Amino acid sequence: MTASRLPQFSGKTGRPELMVILGSTLTVIAILGIVTFLLIREHAGAKETATRSATTIAQLIDADVLRTVELYDMTLQGLIAAAQRDDLRQVSPQIRHLVLFDRSTTARFKGDILLLDKHGEVLADSSLIEPRPGNFADRDYFQAHVTNTGSGMYISRPFKPRCDCEDSNEWRISFSRRIASSTGEFLGVAVASMRLTYFDQLFNSLYIGSDSTLNIIDDAGILLAQKPYLEHDSIGKSFATRPNVVRILREGSGSFESVSSIDGRQRLYTFSRVGNLPLTVIVALSGNDVFAAWRRTALVISGATGVLCIGLLWLSWLLCRELRLRHQAEQELAQLAATDSLTGVANRRILDLTLRHEWFRAQRSGQPLSVLMIDADHFKAFNDRHGHQGGDEALRTIAKVIAANVRRPADLVARYGGEEFSVILAETDSTGARQIAEKIRMAVQQLPKTEGDELPMTVSIGISTWTTQTDVTLEQLLFAADKALYQAKEQGRNRVVAGS
Ligand code: GH3
Ligand code: MG
Ligand code: MG
Repeated sequence: MTASRLPQFSGKTGRPELMVILGSTLTVIAILGIVTFLLIREHAGAKETATRSATTIAQLIDADVLRTVELYDMTLQGLIAAAQRDDLRQVSPQIRHLVLFDRSTTARFKGDILLLDKHGEVLADSSLIEPRPGNFADRDYFQAHVTNTGSGMYISRPFKPRCDCEDSNEWRISFSRRIASSTGEFLGVAVASMRLTYFDQLFNSLYIGSDSTLNIIDDAGILLAQKPYLEHDSIGKSFATRPNVVRILREGSGSFESVSSIDGRQRLYTFSRVGNLPLTVIVALSGNDVFAAWRRTALVISGATGVLCIGLLWLSWLLCRELRLRHQAEQELAQLAATDSLTGVANRRILDLTLRHEWFRAQRSGQPLSVLMIDADHFKAFNDRHGHQGGDEALRTIAKVIAANVRRPADLVARYGGEEFSVILAETDSTGARQIAEKIRMAVQQLPKTEGDELPMTVSIGISTWTTQTDVTLEQLLFAADKALYQAKEQGRNRVVAGS
């Protein structure tokens, strides 16, 4: 193809590939958006379900602990009531022991139940008819009752018993009540201790998952029970400064997600206070336990979505490639259908189409339109001298020369037929057309002489121009160009003649 352009009068200019890429990208974004939304919702659902079951577990523990503490309180109240009976002094120690600790048999996991005088000395002991001598004035509960005149029950900090008995290594807490005279004077303390294995037994009856923990702390942040133990020897230790414990003690009951300061793992904390006791139950579910099922689902769905999206994009890519190849093939076909196969310039069909197109455009815009008719001089003789193949080569050369001198995008060079060419010069008046025609004529004349020829190749050119002043039809315009060409031939060839 030479430098001349091939005009496009119809055909889709939009790129279907772009639509496919845009459509598939939007579809992939929509799929990813929907899947993400569903996974987030599922995650929130898993958290809600876990919080609900943790709350149920906390309530079960609450109820059990409340009932147990109530039994201990009844024991203490029975002990105090019996101790204040005057008639008890007259009975035998065995009977006195029976009466004092009558209600204590019902308490579970009970340790010693003692009656202390106002100096902390043991007056009565549930395990011995003759109490062992001992003084408990230094215990926190005793000191609390000495200073606090309130009549409520006091729950001590965890402690280990002072005896040399076999369970001396076992943690306990004690429940105690103040004994006071009718005037409010401090007379002593009734105290019952409970083995903390009670909580272990209670926790063991509940399944919460392998990585989660159950805990009970008191209002001072001291750990009373834990399952499973996260730290060695953590019972009796204060966790009051740990941020999660601070929040739990402040809020009383509720739920939040946080990282455990002990093992650094993500946990869902659900907690509630045991009645109006200074105890808080904490159910700390591990993120692994809570979101295990969600993670499996998320993995499967994400994988399937990924495969789907990649498949979709791959199909889109294939479709785009096919569309591009088809587009290229169509363009090549259109090019072929518009091109003169010998010279590569536009063919007669395109010449006719372009002429009509430019004609109507000129009518609308009022801009001049020029047509050149170019004919090789004595070409029959040239053919006779150099054969048809030599003639074809010469026609290709002339076409190249014409195209090289017609540079504006709106102009068109076409093969009219045989050894004749036409040039459409849009928005070009007769002066401009003559200049171009002269340039073409000179350029052909200046081509190197064909071997064996004495004279160079030449062309004759006829010009006709339409302006708003000329009142002619398209056929008349073409006829005028033809006539001018004929005149150029008549006047001796190798010249340019402008028709009127
Ligand atoms: P004039 O100067 O008056 O134009 O003389 P001419 O010989 O060029 O004119 P004429 O119309 O008598 O001859 C045209 C010749 O062009 C006839 C033919 O041999 C030659 N011709 C037409 N088409 C082709 C072509 O495709 N290839 C070749 N090699 N020659 C062609
Ligand atoms: Mg001719
Ligand atoms: Mg000729």
